[in-house]
Amino acid sequence: MITPGAWGNRPHPWAGVRENQRPAPNRAGGGIYTGPMATISFARGVPAPELLPVEELADCARAAIERDGPTVLNYGPVGGYPPLREWIAERHGVDTRQVLVTNGSLQGLSLLAAVLLDRGSRILVEGPTYDRALRIAARHEAEPVPVPMDEDGLDPDALELPAAFLYTIPTFQNPSGRTLSLERRRRLAELARNGEMLVVEDDPYALVRFGGEPLPSIYELAGGEGVVHSFSFSKIVSPGLRVGYLVGPAELIAGLEALAVQTYLAPGQLAQATVLEFLRRGLLEPNVERVAAQLRERRDAMLETFEQELPEGTSWSRPEGGYFAWLDLPPGSDAAALLARAEQEGVTFVNGSDFFPPGQGGSGSARLAYSFVSPADVRTGVTRLAGLLRDLRSTPVAV
Ligand code: PMP
Repeated sequence: MITPGAWGNRPHPWAGVRENQRPAPNRAGGGIYTGPMATISFARGVPAPELLPVEELADCARAAIERDGPTVLNYGPVGGYPPLREWIAERHGVDTRQVLVTNGSLQGLSLLAAVLLDRGSRILVEGPTYDRALRIAARHEAEPVPVPMDEDGLDPDALELPAAFLYTIPTFQNPSGRTLSLERRRRLAELARNGEMLVVEDDPYALVRFGGEPLPSIYELAGGEGVVHSFSFSKIVSPGLRVGYLVGPAELIAGLEALAVQTYLAPGQLAQATVLEFLRRGLLEPNVERVAAQLRERRDAMLETFEQELPEGTSWSRPEGGYFAWLDLPPGSDAAALLARAEQEGVTFVNGSDFFPPGQGGSGSARLAYSFVSPADVRTGVTRLAGLLRDLRSTPVAV
């Protein structure tokens, strides 16, 4: 039996593992606040339970097993459940050999990094970027180089080539909520087409749009040349199913398959068949509309409350889709100090510095996810945060 302290004087099993290889804190699981006030979590970049199409997926899973049980309940091809792989290939106008369906899109990105990165490789990333991508880079001892962003996304004039690749989240970015403009997408597509730079385009939020016109992906604009495109069903169907995919050159995908087969033999066929059933029943579009409408209410509540409550000098992104807004606190504010106070008062968010390589930015910024919190709680949480921010700003600094 394992008892507390069963490790005795032996080193903890993680001792000797480099800091960047330890498990990242699992914010999806959420920190549990046990104080008297229920915590409002802007840290959880996950869908609220009411956003998940539970009944529909129950029907789809049953239908998938009834139709194709002996296949989906066995090991399958490492590239993915063949009919889903074909559906994806058709959607992108590519050969099925150019598609790798993985257990969530992060797994595909992780495989890609293992194949493309060496110790010391430079990767261009947005500043800020998705924190788990930074952890993958650190695992390979690669050097992420942040590219400055503004409200139109990353600045293509600031790309410092050469690099192993550019990693970009062009639409409703995690963490900033910003979207790369069409003009900038075209410029990146041109660089990719000309062979000047490989672009890894991670676009899981693309369909979670609240208004305005959809933009073409960099992959489309480049005619697929020099771009690897990553997509996920996590944000538009369910993250628990763990279904995402990569589209890229057939030789690269074959290399990833070789690594995947050594790592997990085959992805979860049942989950992939369930997603396919959902698609074939025409459930995706209405579900995306329903999810986007609910997220939009939450986004509206957040932006309205920012406007009403936040002290002067604070600025924020205005996402037109996705899960996240980004706050730049008034100059001189420390997001870590705000977070420590906020947690005592039952509100959490993620410190902006988590989305930059260590020491390279974000200490005066915060990522606030509105995806998990009801509109009423969004208002309460932002109002609490604004009060704390004002208090912190008015507390004289000891000299
Ligand atoms: N990329 C980005 C930008 C994300 O925000 C996420 C989810 N937080 C992922 C990839 C991974 O998603 P999944 O593995 O569930 O497809």
